[in-house]
Amino acid sequence: MSKEKSLKLYQQIIVLLGCFTLVFAVVRAFFDLLSWEFILFSFFTITIGPRLNLKLPRSRVVLGFSDSLIFLSFLLFGGEEAIILAAGEMLAACLSLRTNGIRLNFNTLIYNISSSTLTTSLTYLGWLFISDKMGLSFIPTETSQLVTMLGVLSILQFITNSIFVSSYYSLKNETPLIKQWKQDGFSISITQIAGACIAGVTYKLITSGDYFATSISLVVIIFAYLNYRKVMGDMTSSIEEAEKAQQEKAESERIRAEQAEKYALELSKSLADQEIISEKLQESNIALEQTAFYDTLTKLPNRAYLIERLNLLLELGIDISNKYFVLFLDLKRFKNINNRLGHTIGDKVLMLVAKRVLRAVKMEDTVARLGGDEFAIILTDLKSAEEAKRYARRIHQKLTHPFSLNGHKIFSDVHIGISPFDTEHQKPEDILRDADIAMHYAKEKELPFALFDKDLRSKVLETIKLESHLRFALEKNELSMFYQPLISLADGGIIGFEALLRWQHPTFGFVSPAQFIPIAEDSGQIIPITNWILEQTTDQIAKWQKISPGYKKLMVSVNISGKHISQDGLVETVETCLRKAKLKPASLKLEITESTAMENAERTIEILSELNRIGTQLSIDDFGTGYSSLSYLHRLPFDTLKIDRSFVYSVGENGENSEILQTIISLAKNLKMKVIAEGIETESQLRLLRNLGCDFGQGYLMSKPLPVDQAETLLYQKQIWFPQSFVENEMGETLSNTSNSPILYPSKIAQ
Ligand code: C2E
Ligand code: MG
Ligand code: MG
Repeated sequence: MSKEKSLKLYQQIIVLLGCFTLVFAVVRAFFDLLSWEFILFSFFTITIGPRLNLKLPRSRVVLGFSDSLIFLSFLLFGGEEAIILAAGEMLAACLSLRTNGIRLNFNTLIYNISSSTLTTSLTYLGWLFISDKMGLSFIPTETSQLVTMLGVLSILQFITNSIFVSSYYSLKNETPLIKQWKQDGFSISITQIAGACIAGVTYKLITSGDYFATSISLVVIIFAYLNYRKVMGDMTSSIEEAEKAQQEKAESERIRAEQAEKYALELSKSLADQEIISEKLQESNIALEQTAFYDTLTKLPNRAYLIERLNLLLELGIDISNKYFVLFLDLKRFKNINNRLGHTIGDKVLMLVAKRVLRAVKMEDTVARLGGDEFAIILTDLKSAEEAKRYARRIHQKLTHPFSLNGHKIFSDVHIGISPFDTEHQKPEDILRDADIAMHYAKEKELPFALFDKDLRSKVLETIKLESHLRFALEKNELSMFYQPLISLADGGIIGFEALLRWQHPTFGFVSPAQFIPIAEDSGQIIPITNWILEQTTDQIAKWQKISPGYKKLMVSVNISGKHISQDGLVETVETCLRKAKLKPASLKLEITESTAMENAERTIEILSELNRIGTQLSIDDFGTGYSSLSYLHRLPFDTLKIDRSFVYSVGENGENSEILQTIISLAKNLKMKVIAEGIETESQLRLLRNLGCDFGQGYLMSKPLPVDQAETLLYQKQIWFPQSFVENEMGETLSNTSNSPILYPSKIAQ
């Protein structure tokens, strides 16, 4: 059976028995109930009794005067009256609780009344049984009898009451009856005993007949009661205060504990956060160090790292001269790889370069990427400069080995400058600068590597000086054009000029093109300079074409640098210049050196095809010095091949060493190109070239490069540009080239 059901059943039984005994008592004592003493006593019990209860602090025990009054009614009126009074008193007590705001439902009210009725009834029955057995009288006349009777009553009352209360709580809390009885039963005994004592004293006073003593006793009892009530009240309030304080203390401790827990949680969270932050900080420090000292692409140390390392070596102060070396590497034509194949391939090439270099040096050496296509190496603990050169050679070999990437075979090259550590080096930058100087020298001389020496430094410083002055040469009018006649070898007539740039510096004097043209190319100055040359020369030749109808087809040959070919805009500039000068495109010839053309053959084919389309002539310059691939030569749209002067120079007086000339000329013929030979200085060279079928020539024998005015004067004066002796001996003609009269129609101007 469930707890609720058993409790309900228990209550129902109590109510049933209680009602029954109450009805029984009412029936038995019906007439006694109407006496004025009982009515007065009942009134007092019902109205005052419940109000005189005293609750013992910190216990469920209530010292009830109602118990005393019930016992007293026992003594004064009898058992039935006591039962009825118990019911009435309980009803009054419950109603009083309800008016004080305590919720008591009807069932509980009935149960309480029944329980009280039944307890008193059982006490009464018990008393009847015991008094019968012990021969006790119901009306005690002597104190000893009174004590015995009250003792028995209180014990019986205690037993029944404690059993009911314990049974109720045992069912409600589902605890064993004995345990519940021990917990609640004993405390009930006090109320019974106290109630019995008070009842006994009161009964004794009422029945003594001594009204004075009774009145005095009543006053004492009232005082004692009031005093006791006050003490109890004070005790209760101080206990309540203490309890409240304790509760507050407990509450504040709970709050403190909660806060401490919260704080501990926050602390642990913030510690965790702190840990994450410090981890992140450490990570970002590493990343920072990584980006500060390492190159992101190749993962090699960067310039900053290299400088640090060099600093450290210099600070060590030990003599590492000629034992430690710095190598400065510059990849050749790396820009072309980037331009032609894209930056992704370019990046991969750089990564492969880094790997190859690392494989060529010792573990303890430092390989760094300085930026772009520049790398530097610190070689440690070498025996001599020769060993450093051996390393440079090995690196050069490794890097000139073609790379295979995404189906492309990529050829790369490198120039390496070597600088030994020197006592003169104060800062890392000094040693890097010297290695850089050596590298530039290697580049200029087309060497795989070069070892630094002090002469090199002055040469490079000279170059740097020239470069800085060259920047302003154009705007300061220091540049001018010289024109070297191009002559038809068949009849000595002029077909045009090669435009050659001259730089006359106010303090350095005349600077050779061989010196400043490479500088202009390296610094990129060559592009604006060539644009200016194109403007000047097209204007000039258009002007000269007007001198005579015989000069209508006079042309100008302009040298174009490889730098210009790899940049956009050349074709547009040429078109603009031709349009401005109102010059036919065929009157302009562009010369590109063989090495330039072959260096970037695909790009050259592209640009030359464009130039060919607009109608300009194209000449391959210095032929024989570069290593022409015949397949490319065939595809390049050149119409003229210019033999390098070294082949003309090497021909002897009697035509020795002419085989190469012969081969080049027949090659040109096969490729349907015209041939021009440069550097003709002697009549025998001229004769040979004429005999070999070379179409045109230029050289000091006919004319040196001339300034504009001189070239113009000669244009007016000369018809045949061969030396007089040559004309007389070889052609059987006499020349009168010195006349000042303008030449109206030079005899046989070649195409
Ligand atoms: P290049 O284009 O092969 O020019 C011919 C060079 O040979 C010229 O030297 C010329 O003066 C020289 N020369 C001509 N005939 C003879 C001769 O009979 N004997 C000797 N020994 N030399 C002769 P230059 O003017 O010193 O030019 C040297 C090089 O500088 C040129 O070689 C050319 O590559 C470059 N250059 C000159 N002017 C320009 C220019 O305006 N633009 C470009 N990009 N390069 C130029
Ligand atoms: Mg030339
Ligand atoms: Mg040349």
